[in-house]
Amino acid sequence: MRAISILVLSLFLFSNLSGCFGAFEEGGIFSDTDSEEKFGIPGGLTLACLRSSQFESMVVEVDYSQGYEPNSQTISTLKARLEQVCDKPGGISILVTQTDFQHGSSWSADDIREKGRETREGAPQDGTRLRWHLMFPSGSYDSSGVLGVAVDASTAAIFLDDVRDAEGLFSRPSAEDIEEAVTVHEVGHLLGLVNLVYESSHPHEDSDHPGHSNNEDSVMYWAIESSDISSFVSNDVPDEFDGDDIDDFAGMASGELETENQLWDGSDA
Ligand SMILES: [Zn+2]
Repeated sequence: MRAISILVLSLFLFSNLSGCFGAFEEGGIFSDTDSEEKFGIPGGLTLACLRSSQFESMVVEVDYSQGYEPNSQTISTLKARLEQVCDKPGGISILVTQTDFQHGSSWSADDIREKGRETREGAPQDGTRLRWHLMFPSGSYDSSGVLGVAVDASTAAIFLDDVRDAEGLFSRPSAEDIEEAVTVHEVGHLLGLVNLVYESSHPHEDSDHPGHSNNEDSVMYWAIESSDISSFVSNDVPDEFDGDDIDDFAGMASGELETENQLWDGSDA
């Protein structure tokens, strides 16, 4: 059943109606053949975040091209959302660094993986520290209308040129609010939402937009990733997980919900 749903998801993404989690475009688990390190699929390090038995602390590397630094509001909201759901007694820190990705203006999922691995400062499973990587490069994703994409278990990119272009009339919603929402949304995919590595007991996955919420008040609402966002979301862009999202995290953390495709198996050390 799960294999079928993944296949359907792949076909759906091949139809180019969505591009929000690029790993599935290859039709399955992506692993780096050039190194020992396994990078997995979005959601592959969800338990590593939700539980603390192996990874006591977490670092999110935020690397941006010159002129593409995310707002401080985005960074503080990102930190708050992660602290809300991830058990990290050693703390969660966000490292913001200007970076030259040495890349042109068009990005494929593979480009993001390749440049991400070149520019990240440490492995995703870095001893007792979990390390995720958010990239804010100049340029755009190679399928149009995509504001952000999660490409493996620890890497996502947000395209601020497109975020700025997606701003609504009279700044409703504003580019700042969209940037904040898209950033939390992509991290939500790294956290496995919606149904990427588990099956929710709540019917909140949108049937027309796999991997996304049908609740317009959730940051995982399907329109958040899209450049049409201002047509679907009027004034207040959600930047929070809703009750069903939070319940899914709790279910995975406790083991009540079965979690698959994990790079770290979630066992107590
Ligand atoms: Zn998405």
